[in-house]
Amino acid sequence: MTIEAVIFDWGGTLTPWRTVDEHHGWQAYAGILHDDEERAREAARALRTAELARWASVRDESRAFTLAQVLQDAAAEHDERALDAYREYWVQATHTDPEAAPMLAELRDRGLKLGVLSSTPWPSAWHQEWLHRDGVLDHFHATVWSSDLPWTKPHPSAFRAALDAVGVSDPSRAVYVGDRPYDDISGAKGVGMRAVLVPHSDIPAAQQVPVDVHPDGVLHRLADLPELIAGW
Ligand SMILES: [Mg+2]
Repeated sequence: MTIEAVIFDWGGTLTPWRTVDEHHGWQAYAGILHDDEERAREAARALRTAELARWASVRDESRAFTLAQVLQDAAAEHDERALDAYREYWVQATHTDPEAAPMLAELRDRGLKLGVLSSTPWPSAWHQEWLHRDGVLDHFHATVWSSDLPWTKPHPSAFRAALDAVGVSDPSRAVYVGDRPYDDISGAKGVGMRAVLVPHSDIPAAQQVPVDVHPDGVLHRLADLPELIAGW
């Protein structure tokens, strides 16, 4: 086998896709900041607007962002209790696919390095806590979150950061598994990695970029990955 590493996307790949009303997360945040309902509504709207603008620059320029920047853009107070409420709302979308743990164990047993590369505004500590809660954190040699990087996928530097983190110098010896044709498949192939598409996410139209790209494999269930890449 020539493959040395498998690097996974997080949302919609290691965690099954879940459509969540993103405005509600900000309503939870604003509800802690303001007792007055009208002020809370306005703050939530400003936060959502700021976040959408940041996601647009992810889509158009691969520019990474953090929650702290969204708060700043919306002129909202940074409040830990409010962040807890926001995060609590989002927990529903963070659960690892139950097929992940046995699949990761099998790949590890083959001697493969395993990693995560995700485009996310959320702090790495949140992500690591969720992976730990679901018993999969220890399977990964490294996890890379764009909230710690200047660029998101599909920027080559994001993929190179993940390759460096798992210690692989030849990208053709690494596979990326993700659910977005533009961010994940074109990004991975752009740096010379192989790419596997998980085609089951209902990606919001505003976050999609049309792209003509062909994955090296298509994966309908995480459990099928060890067999799919067995000959690579
Ligand atoms: Mg994804």
